[in-house]
Amino acid sequence: MDVVVVGGGPAGRALARACAARGLGTTLVDPRPERPWRATYAAWVDELPADAPVAVRTSRARAVTTAEHVIARGYAVLDNERLRWLPDDVRVVAGRVVARTGTTATLADGRVVTGRVVDASGSVGGRAAQTAVGVVLPARSATPFIGADGSDEALIMDWRKPPAATTGDPTFLYAIPVSADEVLVEETSLARRPGLPLRELRLRLHARLAVHGIPVPDDEERVRIALDGRARDGAFGAAAGWVHPATGYSVAAALRRAPVVADLIANGREVTRSAAERAVRRLRLRGLEALLALPPDEVPEFFNGFFQLSDSLQRDYLGGHDDLRGTARAMLRLFGSVSWGMRARLAFPVQSAKVVRTPG
Ligand SMILES: Cc1cc2nc3c(=O)[nH]c(=O)nc-3n(C[C@H](O)[C@H](O)[C@H](O)COP(=O)(O)OP(=O)(O)OC[C@H]3O[C@@H](n4cnc5c(N)ncnc54)[C@H](O)[C@@H]3O)c2cc1C
Repeated sequence: MDVVVVGGGPAGRALARACAARGLGTTLVDPRPERPWRATYAAWVDELPADAPVAVRTSRARAVTTAEHVIARGYAVLDNERLRWLPDDVRVVAGRVVARTGTTATLADGRVVTGRVVDASGSVGGRAAQTAVGVVLPARSATPFIGADGSDEALIMDWRKPPAATTGDPTFLYAIPVSADEVLVEETSLARRPGLPLRELRLRLHARLAVHGIPVPDDEERVRIALDGRARDGAFGAAAGWVHPATGYSVAAALRRAPVVADLIANGREVTRSAAERAVRRLRLRGLEALLALPPDEVPEFFNGFFQLSDSLQRDYLGGHDDLRGTARAMLRLFGSVSWGMRARLAFPVQSAKVVRTPG
């Protein structure tokens, strides 16, 4: 059987590699397959498969909410070259798919590629977004953010306010080593509908750097991740709704699930979402609505509650795409750990009353 993977992002490429490894004739279609990737992809080490292409790994993480939390969990930055790599037996076609059936993909120039078609063309729709602006600093300049021994630590979030801001939107600083002597420092808006404009994030990031006399590098990383995009059945990666609405992450899930989905395809089985998977997504989207409705000053307290959960509950909430019990348990425990006032706001998010949708 031949397979046509539509989309050459991290998910499509992982699936194409896994399909080719099973001897399936595999074609990958992307408008610009040679386009370099500028994003820094990262994930918790324990969410990655053993063969994931890791560039840099730290043995612990830290979060600053209303208190400081050390998280005994490895964090990894992925190696984009190896994440992009495809074996020679994957046929790469440059083009945009404009129409498809289960077994044909028609490109904008009229060419038709045949085989079992899997949509890995990324997120579509959704209005809530995570946005961020980041710069790469020499590690020695980044010590105000991740400390002198920062190479073994990832700063997952630091909610201490930036010295300048023109809006009340909550943002945090994210800082991770990206090589032996460089650190990515990023001002991040975790979730907002619509996404917080990059100029506001840039202003806040530059203000944080200025306090320490750190010059602003010319290059910047710009992040915009749709958090509530449509989940398409039979799709793979962000196209399937795998972006976690509370973190924006989906790459680890795609790497983990590529062999599973390739096995289904090789065995001629359908790729569908289970009832548990749909339910977990609905719960996570509810969590997103609650987060969006929290007053800005309460967001650090909310994450303080989150990082007080046991390691296993944190993992249940952040990982397991179809672990309904674990997701519900983590959310309930978090709910029980915050103040009564916040509980009321989480239970009856004002914003969600207006806009709640449960796509997928
Ligand atoms: C700067 C940045 C940093 C990020 N950091 C992280 C991170 O640390 N961890 C994490 O998990 N996630 C991160 N994300 C989120 C990340 O974008 C997604 O998790 C990931 O890219 C999703 O992979 P994907 O392959 O499913 O979709 P995409 O990466 O969106 O890839 C889809 C591909 O399909 C192609 N395509 C679209 N339409 C068509 C068509 N009609 N025909 C053919 N091809 C098509 C697109 O050109 C694209 O190449 C980050 C995003 C950004 C922008």
